[in-house]
Amino acid sequence: MTIHGSCCCGRVKFELLEPPRMMGTCHCSRCRKVGASTFVIVSRSTLKWLNGREAVIRYAPEPPYKYGRCFCGVCGTALGEILSEDETFPIAAHALDDDPQVRNRFHEFVAEKPDWYGICDEAKQFPGHPG
Ligand SMILES: [Zn+2]
Ligand SMILES: [Zn+2]
Repeated sequence: MTIHGSCCCGRVKFELLEPPRMMGTCHCSRCRKVGASTFVIVSRSTLKWLNGREAVIRYAPEPPYKYGRCFCGVCGTALGEILSEDETFPIAAHALDDDPQVRNRFHEFVAEKPDWYGICDEAKQFPGHPG
């Protein structure tokens, strides 16, 4: 089944030809600041662009941080690592318009979670990266 995704303004549109492999939530300050804490892991071969790939901007952080953060250059919607060349990569779950058929499996970097955010599911919690 096809799962559609898009940004807030509609310039970016894509499809996932298969459901993502899983969903996770990262509470590190970097994911939080770009607004992409809950993500799904997708296989690159299942990602099909429909529109707006050229509008996507990739923010490449200074080392030691390595993950490029992508967002719509028109409206700023965070898109995770959607331009990654890796076989699998995370994209922001909030960009999906259909049910991805997976549910949150874990919370990582819970040690960095702000107190105002309460975890409300039963998924496993890790203080840092899952071991
Ligand atoms: Zn947009
Ligand atoms: Zn993170």
